[in-house]
Amino acid sequence: MATQSISSQDAVDVDAIRQIVSKNFSTSVEHLKNLARIPSVAWDSFDPIHVRRSAEAVAELAKELGFDDVRIATAPKSDGAEGSPAVLARKPAAPGKPTILLYAHHDVQPPGDRELWDSEPFEPEQRGDRLYGRGAADDKAGVMAHWSAIRALEESTPDHGLGITLFIEGEEEAGSPSFRNFLETHREDLAADVIVVADSANWSVGTPSLTTSLRGMLGAEFEIRALDHAVHSGMFGGPILDAPILAARLVASLHDADGNVAVAGLEQRDTATVEYDEEQFRSDSSVVDGYRLAGSGKITDRLWNRPAISLIGLDVVSVANSANALIPQVRGKLSVRLAPGQDPVAAGEALRTHIEDLDLRGAEVRFTVTEAGSAYLQDAEHDAAARLMNESLQDAWGTDPVNTGIGGSIPFIADLKELYPSAHILITGVEDPDSRAHSANESLHLPEFEKAITAEALLLARLAAGGLGASSPE
Ligand SMILES: [Zn+2]
Repeated sequence: MATQSISSQDAVDVDAIRQIVSKNFSTSVEHLKNLARIPSVAWDSFDPIHVRRSAEAVAELAKELGFDDVRIATAPKSDGAEGSPAVLARKPAAPGKPTILLYAHHDVQPPGDRELWDSEPFEPEQRGDRLYGRGAADDKAGVMAHWSAIRALEESTPDHGLGITLFIEGEEEAGSPSFRNFLETHREDLAADVIVVADSANWSVGTPSLTTSLRGMLGAEFEIRALDHAVHSGMFGGPILDAPILAARLVASLHDADGNVAVAGLEQRDTATVEYDEEQFRSDSSVVDGYRLAGSGKITDRLWNRPAISLIGLDVVSVANSANALIPQVRGKLSVRLAPGQDPVAAGEALRTHIEDLDLRGAEVRFTVTEAGSAYLQDAEHDAAARLMNESLQDAWGTDPVNTGIGGSIPFIADLKELYPSAHILITGVEDPDSRAHSANESLHLPEFEKAITAEALLLARLAAGGLGASSPE
């Protein structure tokens, strides 16, 4: 494995690589269109033949790049059923050279309501600078960014010696049900020094970014029992606060008056260097006019670097079925997002302590953590691969890249981190804020796509040239 010091000299010819990417760009776009014509939705309710066809098309493209080990592989889901086909293509590293794993996914979201699209979802159409179609961005453009970058490396430096593993998943939009088993089954084949996950977005058209943090998450349920059975609200109301009223007190205690999370032990780290325009955020989120946003600090910090708690389910009597009775029992579910760096087990305990310490008049309170996912945090300044990536983004765009976070989680990043603790993970992307992945009129900004390919090709060339530092014997 390579060590982590960065090499001082850069032996990479940036202009030559840029020109190769540019010369091949129309081919990249043609291949992208062909992939985007395949309705490869991996959801159970869709015909799996299309995901299979899409895997075959990706495997053909991999063969074109000269990979001799190209496989379409599956692994069982936790219920034993077979997962969707992934493509695995490998080129072993020359002695002393690092191996890089390039991840993207070839399955797509369902198209949704056809009426909302301005062109056929599965017939990619170019209008202006953008290519419209389901998967044109998420994530068939990620697949083609890898393909095009490898091709540029092969052309510019045929004797690069870099080990390359192309891993194109086929069920990301279906929740990656067999991903963990796939990693474990193919653990040796997937081992790498650097992992590039091309499934995120750039900050804006013109500003590239590297995603360096993901929030963690917790699912938790609470149950409050105040009475054995319902009783008449006129006969018994007064000395007794019923279970829904106590639940309201519990829920209200989770935030302070300004809407900041008020659970001791839930961490925050305000490190965002970019700001989400408030008007834009209001329109993207659809808050009603007059709604005052909760919490303090930058919106980006509130989204990426601070905890968030939402009440996502509440089992209580419906209004239609309501009677004049005190309700004995209530159950609720919380969705909690955690600041990068926070341990989800510690966060679950902090929330438990908070709830157990509340004065709910001695009612019986049960609290259960049902789900926990680790956050992800990269030190981009000190991670050798992140520095090479930032340098490559800078060269491709001619602009300083920004480091961004994601408020949601990418559960498989935690799996990769766990199975390959020493690998450098780079979360890159081809999307921009107008890409509308998962919505109607999904699209890719083509000039940005070309820059994303150039950046990745530069990264590969820099890794091949020893950018991670002097290699040490295994
Ligand atoms: Zn995606």
